[in-house]
This record gives sequence, C-alpha cells and structure tokens, in this order.
Amino acid sequence: MNIVQYPHPALRFVTRPIVRIDDALRHAAAQMLELMYEARGVGLAATQVALPWRMFVYNPTADPEKREHEHVILNPVIMEKRGSQDESEGCLSFPGMYHKVRRAKAVKVRYHSLTGNQVEVEATDFLSRIFQHETDHLSGILFIDKLGPIGRLAARQNLARLEAEYRDAQSMGEIPPDSELIQRLEALADGGSTPS
Ligand SMILES: [Zn+2]
Repeated sequence: MNIVQYPHPALRFVTRPIVRIDDALRHAAAQMLELMYEARGVGLAATQVALPWRMFVYNPTADPEKREHEHVILNPVIMEKRGSQDESEGCLSFPGMYHKVRRAKAVKVRYHSLTGNQVEVEATDFLSRIFQHETDHLSGILFIDKLGPIGRLAARQNLARLEAEYRDAQSMGEIPPDSELIQRLEALADGGSTPS
C-alpha cells in the first residue's frame, strides 16, 4: 500500500459502502494510519491508497504519539452543513500544493466506527474541514475542484507538473497504465466489502 498522487485514476473513483467489518478491513485501516503519520498528514482516504471503499482515517494532531485522537471513519454521511470558512488546505495526493478552500464552518456527520457502532458527531472549524475534505475524496471529489477562478489559475502550473511527473513514471513502467489501475479498483469493488 502506498499513497497515490494526482492524477492517479483512483482519486476519481466513487467508492462503495462498506458492508462487512473484518480483519482485512481493520488491517487496511491500520496501514492507512501508518502511511498518514509517515507523510505527516491529518487525514487519508481509501481512494488515496487505491482502495474502492467508503473509509477514511484521521488524526487532527498528525502526531503518532497521540493515538487517542485518531479515528477510522466508515460510510460517512454529512447530514448538515452550517456557515462558511476560508482556510488554506493541502492534500497528501498533491504534494507541495496549498490553496484557500471555502468549506462549511460546521458539519453534522453520521458514520460507523471500526467496532460497528453508528456515531453522530458535530464538528467545527479544522475538524469540520477534515470531515468535508475526506468525505469528498470518497466520491472522487478533490480539493482542486473547490478552488475559485484565482485559485485555479494559481494551481495550474503545479497540476501540470504533477501530471507530467505521473505520465513520466507511467512511461518508465513505474506506474501501470490507467486502464489496468481502474480494472484493479473495479475488481476490488466487486469482490466484496473489503480488500483481500
Ligand atoms: Zn486529500
């Protein structure tokens, strides 16, 4: 498992709901947390590790010593949004890119925990931003889609760089062709609720 970068097709995949919590799923969640900490991120969605499941992990402290703040979120649904906030945002699949993104200030979210409990939380400010950014990922929506006209213009050069690097890696055979990557995702999605 590794974190994929834009424009890997997994980042545009619309994930499938998780219907079974088993060892394979728990193992994938643990691996995702490790990758998130290694990359010093505060959140990581399944699509960012090329898994087609409706799952993300987060820890707003980004600190592996503060495990009490880490969470695995299954099948999140944003029930309500209130207010707005404009803050700089980044994404582990877009190294080096930070842009101002408008998000709701507060959200009410319903999800399942890894123990199978249904949870409902209200999150504000930074935590609300994490929930919105990561839940978007599970529908193939990226933070660059949320930029205004000026942000888009500012992001253009970096996106072109990431695209060029990705295609180079593909032509060197370091990354399989997109058709193969998509086939893999669909096979995993059709194979049941969890990766094997
Ligand atoms: Zn992201």
